[in-house]
Amino acid sequence: MKLIDGKKISEKVLDEIKFSVQNRVKNNLKIPHLAAILVGDDGASKTYVNSKIKACEKVGFKSSLFKFDDSISEIELLNQIKNINENDDIDGFIVQLPLPKHINQEVILNKVSPAKDVDGFHPNNYGKMTLGIDTFIPATPAGIIELIERSEIQTEGKKCLVIGRSQIVGRPISILLSQNKSFGNSTVTVAHSRSKDLEKLCLDSDIIISAIGIPEFIKGNMIKKGSSIIDVGITRVDDLSSPKGYKIVGDVDFKSVSNTVGYITPVPGGVGPMTISMLLKNTLKACEISD
Ligand code: NAD
Repeated sequence: MKLIDGKKISEKVLDEIKFSVQNRVKNNLKIPHLAAILVGDDGASKTYVNSKIKACEKVGFKSSLFKFDDSISEIELLNQIKNINENDDIDGFIVQLPLPKHINQEVILNKVSPAKDVDGFHPNNYGKMTLGIDTFIPATPAGIIELIERSEIQTEGKKCLVIGRSQIVGRPISILLSQNKSFGNSTVTVAHSRSKDLEKLCLDSDIIISAIGIPEFIKGNMIKKGSSIIDVGITRVDDLSSPKGYKIVGDVDFKSVSNTVGYITPVPGGVGPMTISMLLKNTLKACEISD
């Protein structure tokens, strides 16, 4: 079993971004600037946004946080987005999800300028990704690509199983794995909650990307010897032995697959740490495009 160390790879990506920022400063080029919109008081959302801002400091980016009360109307939020779209100093921004129920998430995300859509969720960018045109790839699939490429796992001609079809993970990574590019050229199967014979599909796969959110769902008897597994799942389960009272587990029963698997990402410390670094990489890209 070979462990894919997402924490280490993510640090490396952040170092590379920092190096690019230092070069930009030397050459009197603009410092990349990421902004985040946070609506309401959700604890998890605050934590995610704070981590993004901390990561900006680490690489030398400018960052801005636009905080709004959860009573903000959809129209007012759209106005705020218009202001950020028109603010030339901001290269990219994200709208932290989820939004309050009275605000239509799709309407909001569609108003983010595609040039500043570093989350890659705008239909223009999603469409470009589907067509294989260079664009902002959503952070989690972009992180998965980085982990696979830096671990030198070949995708060409391989049988890949993507479990989960969400718009933020399963759907985009399944498209990217089948594209006709150096990362891609796989034969991709997408499984989901209505799929049958999942065990058979797993056993027939060289690479499994699991994004379901069911703790320790994939067991050792379901996988082929030497296959690679990218475990995207993150679930909090009770753990009285931990001071926090819970632990984070993935979709894969790590112990059970350890004698059979080739490469594997741990949870925590696999895909999770990559997400913020890829958001920053997209922001650097947005800044470079606007030079
Ligand atoms: P989701 O929660 O929107 O959907 C889950 C998917 O799993 C659905 O497409 C569903 O069809 C499929 N599914 C459910 N039960 C199944 C079953 N028994 N067999 C096969 N497929 C089944 O998906 P999401 O937002 O992509 O999240 C999936 C997991 O990944 C969650 O645990 C989430 O926390 C985690 N996640 C992690 C990161 C990260 O940075 N590491 C980012 C996003 C999501």
